[in-house]
Amino acid sequence: MKPNHAVRLRSPIATPAMALAILALAVAIAVPMTAGADDDDDDNHGFLPHGPGEKVRPQRPDQELRQILGEIDRRQLEHTIDSLVSFGTRHTLSSQTDPGRGIGAATNWVYQTLQAYAGASGGRMTVELQSFVQPATPPRIPQDTTITNVIATLRGSTNPERVYVVSGHIDSRATDVLDAESEQPGADDDASGVAVVMELARVLSRHQPEATIVFTAVAGEEQGLFGSAHQASVYKAANADIQGMFSNDIVGSSTADDGLRDRHTIRMFAEGVPTSETAAQAAIRRSVGGEVDGVSRQLARFVKSVAENDETDLRIRFIYRRDRFLRGSDHISYLNQGYPAARFTEPHEIFAHEHQNTRVENGVQFGDLVQFVDFAFMTRVAKMNAATMWSLAAGPGTPKNVRILTQALTNASDLVWDRGSEPDLAGYEVVWRETTDSDWTHSVPVGDVTTASFPHFSKDNVFFGVRAVDRDGHHSPVAFPVPQT
Ligand SMILES: [Zn+2]
Repeated sequence: MKPNHAVRLRSPIATPAMALAILALAVAIAVPMTAGADDDDDDNHGFLPHGPGEKVRPQRPDQELRQILGEIDRRQLEHTIDSLVSFGTRHTLSSQTDPGRGIGAATNWVYQTLQAYAGASGGRMTVELQSFVQPATPPRIPQDTTITNVIATLRGSTNPERVYVVSGHIDSRATDVLDAESEQPGADDDASGVAVVMELARVLSRHQPEATIVFTAVAGEEQGLFGSAHQASVYKAANADIQGMFSNDIVGSSTADDGLRDRHTIRMFAEGVPTSETAAQAAIRRSVGGEVDGVSRQLARFVKSVAENDETDLRIRFIYRRDRFLRGSDHISYLNQGYPAARFTEPHEIFAHEHQNTRVENGVQFGDLVQFVDFAFMTRVAKMNAATMWSLAAGPGTPKNVRILTQALTNASDLVWDRGSEPDLAGYEVVWRETTDSDWTHSVPVGDVTTASFPHFSKDNVFFGVRAVDRDGHHSPVAFPVPQT
């Protein structure tokens, strides 16, 4: 920091020692006076970003969300996992007609249970079986096989065309991916995910979200994401406006294979560069950045801002990856169709419990058994999901067609976007951050407008985004602008 010019001119300097003392005093006075805006003496060592707006803060749960979180019931999660395990196996190639054992019986139980929830929804929720014949796809689908997803759709009250999807997969497997006969309890992988989804359906169907929520148990995951791939392609063909999708896959255990427990952390995997990125989009990204700002990253940042708090009692460990090494889940089917999506999974995994025949070997219990599920942990996971889905579907949609104008070389930043159709839309906020920050730091309320101008705040030096706000104070996820030349 150099001495403040104005202060130094006023100083009556008698001796060099006095000058130094006065100089030190002047600096001490000058710092608090000038820190922040318009400090043209700031040499930016220890960089302090300044610019317009307020610090971005997490969105606190509103009263209805707190009520919803209080309705999440651990006993329902236990009941669902016990019921799914009771079918012996849920392998994709297992019986579809046996009333008590196999994928057909399990699927029917999920369908009937969701139907009962729909019956208490005042007509807002409907349930369907989505069946298709998957042609033989060796090696994991040796012959043509009927695959059936269960879909419960809770229609939005004011913006039903906007959709959010939450999934778990109903099928299970053992060591041999083609073994349809042996016991495959699949308590964690993935009865836990289905249990979370069904509990969300039970609770949220008694409330009235503004946008549509789809609760789905998808099938054929272990054979190659077949059920979700079909489902996502059907939505895409119908031009469905899915603004967020989440796979809950292996969300039941809080214990690592070295015995450590982490009962208050969930992992969230979300990609940066979109799986569906086109060559033209890649060219823009190479030229001006955005590799950590794909739509799924924005969605995941939103999740952290609404679902990581003392009401959910869960820390969200945000991982900048599409999925773990050697693994994948149903969110990838949605990413392939260009939809924003992320995956939740437990903080650590014990691979002796996944994709293994149930057995004891050298004193070690293998298999995906209900005894390894931590239901207190799972209850927090369900609450985190409820906070996410409710905050999305009770709030405004992600702004569309957001552009940053780049017709000429200027130090100005000009943003434009389309206005949303929510009846309770209050307006917009422009958010920004240093390019090296991992999340948005500042927001500037700009009102119910579709343009914003910052004449002296250069788009070259920060990242901008736009989010919508409704009259209840709900925010949307952030839309990252594309340059418009
Ligand atoms: Zn799984």
